[in-house]
Amino acid sequence: MQHDGDGQMPIRLALVGIGKIAQDQHIPALQANKSFELVAAVSRSGGIENLPCFADIGDLLASGLDVEAVSLATPPQGRHAIARAALEAGLHVMLEKPPAATVSEVADLAARARDAGVALFATWHSREAASVDAARKWLAGKTLRSARIDWREDIRVWHPGQEWILQPGGLGVFDPGINALSIATAILPEALLLQSARLEFPANRQAPIAAELSLRSGETPVEAAFDFLQTGPQSWDIVVETDAGRLVLSDGGQRLAIDGAEVSAGANEEYPRLYRRFASLVRENASDVDLTPLQLVADAFLLGERIEASPFSF
Ligand code: NAP
Repeated sequence: MQHDGDGQMPIRLALVGIGKIAQDQHIPALQANKSFELVAAVSRSGGIENLPCFADIGDLLASGLDVEAVSLATPPQGRHAIARAALEAGLHVMLEKPPAATVSEVADLAARARDAGVALFATWHSREAASVDAARKWLAGKTLRSARIDWREDIRVWHPGQEWILQPGGLGVFDPGINALSIATAILPEALLLQSARLEFPANRQAPIAAELSLRSGETPVEAAFDFLQTGPQSWDIVVETDAGRLVLSDGGQRLAIDGAEVSAGANEEYPRLYRRFASLVRENASDVDLTPLQLVADAFLLGERIEASPFSF
């Protein structure tokens, strides 16, 4: 067995839910990180080549396989039960965003991790995008005048056939929109508070397909538009007007421009950064659970005016 860069044995981890994000990001990030050894999959549909595969978390835990941590890349509905079983078995747990289907589920998991003395990491991958830290640093100390979020993508292109997204707990357009909120809550100097919201629900679905939010960060008005039916150019942009110029954070946090001049851009390192952070949390038995983006989505459901939109099919 090889030791990682710190001379410690790699953390033996099982990946749960082998869908799009597991294939695209989790597996390559884990394979490139010497702090982890990917030892199993929990999957209803096939798992990961050359690794043991268990049909559910109960089978993994009953198998006697030596595993110290799980990373959950399943849909948010049902994630609480999987995470709870893992925590009760003394495993460290990493959660995809959004961390669960409800705010109280996440709070419960945080308390259980604390009681069990293991790590719980509620990840927000967009916060790890290349230019988010630079945007936060540039905004610190500036006087903000207004901010605008435009998160517009085509659900049929990015989430083909993902029925769970438009079911209760799937968050609908807030599945991508919560990424914008995770960035905004990280870069704006004062807490984001919801003032009003307008949510469009397709007549045949139980989650919104579009939403407009009015928020404030201190005295700064923040307008957000989320659209899941955007064809043509897609946008994942945050624009902040300040006394010292206009900040444009685009491509989901990858690129930053001030007054039209590009100041930073970088390679997509979101998942490698998440797994480096998870390794540190596991080594310290510490947790990182920030509920704020999910709380804002819950607030939008609490406060939002509901509009019926045309039926939707993939
Ligand atoms: P997905 O392609 O639908 O994959 C989810 C996987 O979870 C399925 O393939 C399935 O894997 C497992 N699963 C367990 N119970 C399920 C159920 N009731 N319905 C459907 N699948 C179930 O979804 P995804 O795009 O990978 O998204 C998973 C999570 O990652 C979501 O929370 C999403 O917000 C987040 N995320 C997605 C992206 C993206 O670009 N797609 C980016 C960042 C984060 P098995 O067949 O192996 O059991």
